[in-house]
Amino acid sequence: MTKETIFSKIIRREIPADVLYQDNLVTAFRDINPKAPSHILIVTNMLIPTVNDLTADHEAALGRLFTVAAKIAQQEGIDEDGYRLIVNCNRHGGQEVYHLHMHLLGGRPLGPLVA
Ligand code: AMP
Repeated sequence: MTKETIFSKIIRREIPADVLYQDNLVTAFRDINPKAPSHILIVTNMLIPTVNDLTADHEAALGRLFTVAAKIAQQEGIDEDGYRLIVNCNRHGGQEVYHLHMHLLGGRPLGPLVA
């Protein structure tokens, strides 16, 4: 059984979040503990725990993560300077919330990928 996380409650608007975008496939909201001036999470509406659980059926939602990330980067005014997109998987990847999501980070130079 796949266990729901707090992100499902945000998607259903049952708990507050700073939601920037929502459609039938994905929801985007500001990270509660931002690591950069712009730190936004783009999550699949469908509960997919990790990248390891992906199948070809998810490809539309995965494509949407990227197009929505690009749209929000433009809205945030960080598209020209640049930004970083991150998807963490399991323990070594530092995943904390087991509901697939992409981090959009920008607004300052982010430095090396892995410290
Ligand atoms: P990850 O380590 O990739 O699983 O990232 C999970 C992210 O979710 C972290 O950056 C948290 O700060 C963020 N987060 C956890 N709970 C919330 C919440 N209620 N609203 C917004 N962001 C959250």
